[in-house]
Amino acid sequence: MRFDSSEIAFSHLDNSALKRANLLFLLMSLRFLSVVGPKMIGLMLFFRLPVLGLIRMTLFSHFCGGESIEDAQKTVVSLARRGIGAILDYSVEGISDKSALDLVLKELKASIDQAKGAKAVPFAVFKVSGLARPELLEKIQNVEIISNEETQEFAEAKNRIEALCQHAAQSKVKIFIDAEESWIQEVIDGIAEEMMKRFNQKETYIFTTLQMYRTDRMEYLLGLHNKALEGGYKVGVKVVRGAYMEKERARALRFHQPSPIHPDQFSTDRDYNLALEYCVQNRDIFSICAGTHNEFSSLKLVNLMEAHHIEKNDPRFFFAQLLGMSDHISNVLAQSGYNVAKYVPYGPLKEVLPYLFRRAQENTSIAGQAGRELTLLKKEVVRRRLKGF
Ligand SMILES: Cc1cc2nc3c(=O)[nH]c(=O)nc-3n(C[C@H](O)[C@H](O)[C@H](O)COP(=O)(O)OP(=O)(O)OC[C@H]3O[C@@H](n4cnc5c(N)ncnc54)[C@H](O)[C@@H]3O)c2cc1C
Repeated sequence: MRFDSSEIAFSHLDNSALKRANLLFLLMSLRFLSVVGPKMIGLMLFFRLPVLGLIRMTLFSHFCGGESIEDAQKTVVSLARRGIGAILDYSVEGISDKSALDLVLKELKASIDQAKGAKAVPFAVFKVSGLARPELLEKIQNVEIISNEETQEFAEAKNRIEALCQHAAQSKVKIFIDAEESWIQEVIDGIAEEMMKRFNQKETYIFTTLQMYRTDRMEYLLGLHNKALEGGYKVGVKVVRGAYMEKERARALRFHQPSPIHPDQFSTDRDYNLALEYCVQNRDIFSICAGTHNEFSSLKLVNLMEAHHIEKNDPRFFFAQLLGMSDHISNVLAQSGYNVAKYVPYGPLKEVLPYLFRRAQENTSIAGQAGRELTLLKKEVVRRRLKGF
């Protein structure tokens, strides 16, 4: 299997959409813009300068499905035409107000309703920090003394999460619990394990996320396997590399603590592949989603599935990418008969800015897989020009 066909990668884009994507990735590749951009935009928003329109036409229209679940339907249909599922991701982050958290729960339940019985929407997803105040999660992880109100607040947050997971299991919808920063991840891990124990007794509905850029995740995976064997439940894992590397390193430095992140990309890649291998070998317990834009890791799972004689469309195995990224991987895998899905983030423009800035920063690295996106876009622009399209 090869992922180098620009024709297959961008067959769903007309010429003007292709040129827009090319320009966008070219701009994101400029390190200066990606580093300074978010700060500049923050300032412009503070001074009420009209910058949102520009973001809507560029980053938002490329990486998001729209401002509401209804807006996102167009993307769901267009992905389904290519044999790719949509994971509707309400991407609002860092909320602390109780009534706003309740609204997030309502929106997430609606995303589960969209997925119920729908082949085009194979998973739902949520972030624990979308349903619980992140500062409180951090206090709990640090075993700090919390007030009675905070104890009550945490109980309410757990009720929201439990209600959501129960709604997913009752609707027979698989749901991802995203992984977040290490200073709240221990609490998230605990909640994810509790939810898997409760709702994954027969089928796998709840999926936790493992960030393989962390030095401790292989050990954690082995421990999780033992707990599942003891508790008699199945484990769903979305395996990713991790999205908060710079933030994690900066914080470890600030607090004079060892960084929880591997010292180099090689170690992250090694653990990523080891985790895939371990889950495939223990597939009586594990269901896997390889959440990656890395061609080698995607091929690694393809090869493992072949070596273990696993059907391409075995429901325990999924590949996933983010909307607007790595269509060369998603399209080729889907055309070959594998289960593929893409996160389709949506939400009010202002609220999804942190998600958009992460995407912009991730695409700065020209040497990495993200640079591959730009190379393929350029190749397709030239190919179409030569063919006279
Ligand atoms: C479907 C999907 C779901 C996702 N869900 C989550 C989630 O829940 N939580 C989350 O944190 N992220 C999530 N991500 C983002 C993901 O963690 C990565 O940021 C992103 O996909 C880039 O990694 P990659 O596997 O595509 O590969 P590549 O582009 O090959 O690798 C880049 C990644 O490698 C790691 N890396 C790079 N340089 C170094 C270095 N010097 N030392 C150590 N490690 C390094 C970093 O993690 C970096 O993001 C998700 C991604 C996808 C596609």
